[in-house]
Amino acid sequence: MMNNYFIILASGQSKRFNSNKPKQYITYRNKALFEHSLDKAIESKLFKKIILVVNNKKQIKKKYSKDIAIIKGGKERSDSSLIALKYIKKFSPNNVLIHDAARPNFTIGLLNKLINSLKKNKASVPVIFSKDSIKYKVKNQLFNLNRKNSYLTQTPQAFKFKDIYDLSIKQKNIIQDEATLFIDNNLKINFIKGEALNNKITFKEDIINTKTYFGIGFDIHRLIKDKKLYLGGVKIPFHSGLKGHSDGDVILHSIIDALLGAMRKKDIGTFFPDNKNKFKDIRSPKMLKPIVDILNRSNFYINNLDINLICEQPKVSKYRNKIISSLSNLLNLDKDLINLKGKTVEKLGLIGKEKAIACEVICSISQ
Ligand code: ZN
Repeated sequence: MMNNYFIILASGQSKRFNSNKPKQYITYRNKALFEHSLDKAIESKLFKKIILVVNNKKQIKKKYSKDIAIIKGGKERSDSSLIALKYIKKFSPNNVLIHDAARPNFTIGLLNKLINSLKKNKASVPVIFSKDSIKYKVKNQLFNLNRKNSYLTQTPQAFKFKDIYDLSIKQKNIIQDEATLFIDNNLKINFIKGEALNNKITFKEDIINTKTYFGIGFDIHRLIKDKKLYLGGVKIPFHSGLKGHSDGDVILHSIIDALLGAMRKKDIGTFFPDNKNKFKDIRSPKMLKPIVDILNRSNFYINNLDINLICEQPKVSKYRNKIISSLSNLLNLDKDLINLKGKTVEKLGLIGKEKAIACEVICSISQ
């Protein structure tokens, strides 16, 4: 019979977290931080009871089922953990998982592995190896820790209830996690592979969402004889080219306007006024270059581009790969993130009579 209990510690004081609200109540991906852990524990159906330990029970507005107990924690993390262990003692639990609410990104798979591993072990703790080298200071002496032998412990940490309860009752010092109790008492812990994304949210910067913006661009040029046709920076064999101050590349011009729009930096005409002689007959990749530079300098990156090329001829399908490769080079953007669609207009109007080509582009960028 499943006799597992899940303790979520959400009573931290967030000393390192620069915000008026304790971080466990901060909204992270549309939920309070602690709710991510709570919802996953519920969804896993692994637990008889889930105990949420908070500073102030009034801060939990939502009504939960009776399988979820909300209790008040203590001064330090280890006090809260002990209060929760004492609270569940009356249910005679077999297994208990103790978890910090500040780690919202563990998977249900990890919960399953931890519970399974308690069939043969008294303690099971997820660990990852550090990507950074670690130095250790004792008094004034510095030591290099061998990265291969250095573990970073995560939560949830899983224990046989009786063992962790007995150790916690005897514990006098303030501890950072329950694994510490096993280590201090020379007891064996089964380490299992932790999850890279299961990191602790400590600083406010950790949860500031990247800002994403969208931009739209449109352009149309008239087709004239005796001019070369350029689309997306590619020379296309055709009976006419696009009239304009520059090479008339409607794709690149639309992309420039879409990017400028997303960056909220006006439009192509502001950067390349067509009364300026120095831009006469300029090739459009040269116009795109400074815009990409601004994008990079401002720490933006492009998420994707979607392009509609509107013309009867030439057929887009024939040149799609070439154009996408060219854009990928000019923008330093993966080909997978660029989409190009050809659109005809049922022979209507100037475009339908092959007297003009138009283009529209939408882009998404993030900072
Ligand atoms: Zn143009």
